[in-house]
Amino acid sequence: RQPLAGRTALVSASETARMRTLGRELAAAGRRIANMAAGELDTALAAPVRRAAIAAIEAGHNRYTDTSGLPGLRSAIAGLVAEKTGLAWTPAGISVTAGAKQALFNAAMTLIDPGCEVLIPCPYWTTFPTQIRIAGGTPVALDTTATGYLPTPAMIRAAITPATRMIVLNTPNNPTGRVYDAGLLDQIASIAQDHDLWILFDECYGALVPAPAVHVNLLRLRPDLRDRVVLVDSFSKSCAMTGWRIGYLAAPEPVIKAASAFQSHTASNPNVIAQHAVLAALTTGRAELDAFQADIRALLAGNRALALDILAGLDRVTVRPGEGGFYLYLDLGRLIGRQFADGSPVTDADAVAEHLLSEAGVASVPGSAFGDPRGLRLSYAIDGDDLATGLRALVATLNRVA
Ligand code: PLP
Repeated sequence: RQPLAGRTALVSASETARMRTLGRELAAAGRRIANMAAGELDTALAAPVRRAAIAAIEAGHNRYTDTSGLPGLRSAIAGLVAEKTGLAWTPAGISVTAGAKQALFNAAMTLIDPGCEVLIPCPYWTTFPTQIRIAGGTPVALDTTATGYLPTPAMIRAAITPATRMIVLNTPNNPTGRVYDAGLLDQIASIAQDHDLWILFDECYGALVPAPAVHVNLLRLRPDLRDRVVLVDSFSKSCAMTGWRIGYLAAPEPVIKAASAFQSHTASNPNVIAQHAVLAALTTGRAELDAFQADIRALLAGNRALALDILAGLDRVTVRPGEGGFYLYLDLGRLIGRQFADGSPVTDADAVAEHLLSEAGVASVPGSAFGDPRGLRLSYAIDGDDLATGLRALVATLNRVA
């Protein structure tokens, strides 16, 4: 039998998905689990999306659409991008994709040649480096664990080589929740310009930044970089529709054209019903959608305050709360090398995540999934009672490490 392709070695099933599944399995077996591993809201779907999807099914929309999406949806999203960036935007600058993940994949295939280096601040969402590797590039992690989980201009400059082609910016960040402010973004933008780099700007959690923090769109800040910025966004997180798979790429036309060609030979088009649903939500349902997102922000702000209050009881674990999204990221550095209450060693974040699942009934994602074996990601986008119960058990369990 012939072997599997060499590139299979570049990819393993995502750790995030593994922990989410483990948590669900234990819950299905009757155990009360606070599932803080999932990267999604556990609320009902935004109402206009739901209604429009049902109407689209009844209307018999069951055929392929244009590769880059329904013309009306591309137009509506171009309008949204114009609002976000303050720039005129046409549908030709938009490709609708099966979630942001596919937008990022198409972008990697379009922009990265074998041998290219891509800078990625670390901790990072694990899919970024994996997709870069699939495209033949080399991800270069910028370690931000000592700089408050944000890259510094100096570390970016020091990592640039003649092979550097792109930098990935993700704000609010998954897993840390950190939000890049205008000053930092401006400096990074200038470095990218000086060194002729693409900037892949992932703002999937941009709608989930509660005041007083603000989400800054890179192109609104630096419209002069329009030719080198590739924006990626999604309705997954902001509309509680992760399973529906609608995201998009907003970029210079040659990028969209090439990315769309990849899409035409892979997904063909994003799901037609989901496209109609988002189209209606962005047009006739817009006011309702905005209200839905405001409610989600308020709910998340309440959960975040509750979580921080409980986590303040941790003895040896540092929490550096981010300003947006729905994750809290813990630095477990001072626990590693010690022992759990049952005498087993605290070797790394993976061991902590497994121990928390069995002892505290909390599913979390270890930092190894984000390039940082000392971190732990907790999602607070879950029911408030589960959150409080789970976090109290987590604090008690981790404070027993000796
Ligand atoms: N980008 C970031 C930073 C994410 O955290 C995620 C999902 O976890 C995605 C993109 C993918 O989103 P989608 O569900 O739209 O593919």
